[in-house]
Amino acid sequence: MTRTITHFVDGAARPGNGGRTAPVMNPSTGREQARVELASAAEVDEVIANAEQAQVGWAKTNPQKRIRIIMKWISLINDNIDELARTLSLEHGKTFEDAKGDIARGTDVLEFSVGAPHFLKGEFSNSVGTGIDVYSMRQPLGVVAGITPFNFPAMIPLWKAGPALAAGNAFVLKPSERDPSVPVRLAELFIEAGGPAGVFNVVHGDKESVDAILDSEVIQAVGFVGSTPIAKYIYERCAATGKRAQCFGGAKNHMIILPDADLDSAVDALVGAAYGSAGERCMAISVAVPVGKETADALRAKLEERIPDLKVGHSLDPEASYGPVVAKPALDRISQLIDEGEAAGAELVVDGRGRGANDAEFDGESLADGYFIQPTLFDNVTTDMSIYTEEIFGPVLCIVRANDFEEAFRLPDEHVYGNGVAIFTRNGRAAREFADRIRVGMIGVNVPIPVPIAYHTFGGWKASGFGDLNQHGPDSFRFYTRTKTVTQRWPDGVATGADFSMPIMD
Ligand code: NAD
Repeated sequence: MTRTITHFVDGAARPGNGGRTAPVMNPSTGREQARVELASAAEVDEVIANAEQAQVGWAKTNPQKRIRIIMKWISLINDNIDELARTLSLEHGKTFEDAKGDIARGTDVLEFSVGAPHFLKGEFSNSVGTGIDVYSMRQPLGVVAGITPFNFPAMIPLWKAGPALAAGNAFVLKPSERDPSVPVRLAELFIEAGGPAGVFNVVHGDKESVDAILDSEVIQAVGFVGSTPIAKYIYERCAATGKRAQCFGGAKNHMIILPDADLDSAVDALVGAAYGSAGERCMAISVAVPVGKETADALRAKLEERIPDLKVGHSLDPEASYGPVVAKPALDRISQLIDEGEAAGAELVVDGRGRGANDAEFDGESLADGYFIQPTLFDNVTTDMSIYTEEIFGPVLCIVRANDFEEAFRLPDEHVYGNGVAIFTRNGRAAREFADRIRVGMIGVNVPIPVPIAYHTFGGWKASGFGDLNQHGPDSFRFYTRTKTVTQRWPDGVATGADFSMPIMD
């Protein structure tokens, strides 16, 4: 019988009301492995109402007690990391080791959230007027929601849940319907760690459930990560309904390689960053920009030499460099974009279409129907081609040749997306100028995927991010709390009479 993945509400599995379900595939085999329930608007409203009640007690719990639960939660996640990574790998298609990284980069943010008592401290000014003090406090928002993408089913939910919960909010997570099991398991472990029922809920669904979250009058803030059109839609709808929103979208990350770069290190970095996780990372490098013909020719030659060494296989194959892409429509879309690149005149140096996995089977299972695509390399790509303008989100690397630094600089600077960018060089002055001027949110200097560590913030610019506060780091506590400022005087009993003009501090 097919397994059903249910919602997780009020501290326990909550079967849906018998409405719609969606298949959860194993992308390595192309076979359905479970069905996930898709919540109706009424079911979402019920979850939110329940969370609203649970939040009151959670907000009153002192912050140190809250973070002790989070510390225990971290420890339980670590105890269960192999099981979590296996489930994640089987639903997403990323390799087991990569899946462990997905979880570990999430728990990094839980560890950061353990500092909540510090971030929740307010400010105090003594004697701002005669006998008057002013102080501020940071209070939780109430019930907040996270709407998250398929490509990091542990990391991104934890990036949202950690600071939100540590700050005293109740959290409703609507994870991707493509790989929903790990988010549920994380919520179960929160309860096992001593978290109160109703504070961390997982509700599965698609547009209907998302719209119910956006229309709810109880939800105070929405943290979204996904594609740009949906990020924009959610940002606009949150503005219309008066909610706080941080909405992160798609990307087209460039890597500039200057002639003085250590080319071998740059190629190592590029191969991992372009093809790792089948290119399904918002910080993947999808455009390489070598400066000068000599650098470009040498880079291309080294890539051509390295690409055949990559192994595309079942996500649990320990020898696989990367696994399948997440779904058949994703595979078809990537192949279609490669067709378009070829038709537009880009040079298809290595064609990954239609070649499947390296092996016919893994562990007795056929890989013939898996969603595999071999690494693909284009050279002489120009900025008008769809393979350059669009996010491909697959293992496709485009080389765009530049004659000099300024020409290379303009490419990521003028691209519609502005998530991450990398520069490889030995010239500190060039790197410094690049980082200073470029209109992109996260910069790597000789680092290909510059995902900032948990105590700095993560967020892209331009079409890669809507809203002014980033994920994790101190911004996350600003996002999940609001400031209240108290001006107080304790009168000495001597009446001063009514004052009809604006008080002035003198
Ligand atoms: P997606 O936009 O299809 O889905 C994201 C979430 O939105 C899911 O929970 C999904 O159920 C929901 N959703 C989908 N369509 C919707 C609709 N019409 N109305 C309301 N909700 C809807 O994204 P995805 O395919 O799951 O993830 C890949 C995308 O996420 C890529 O574009 C990638 O670059 C981006 N991403 C960005 C970051 C970042 O930090 N900028 C990080 C990871 C992924």
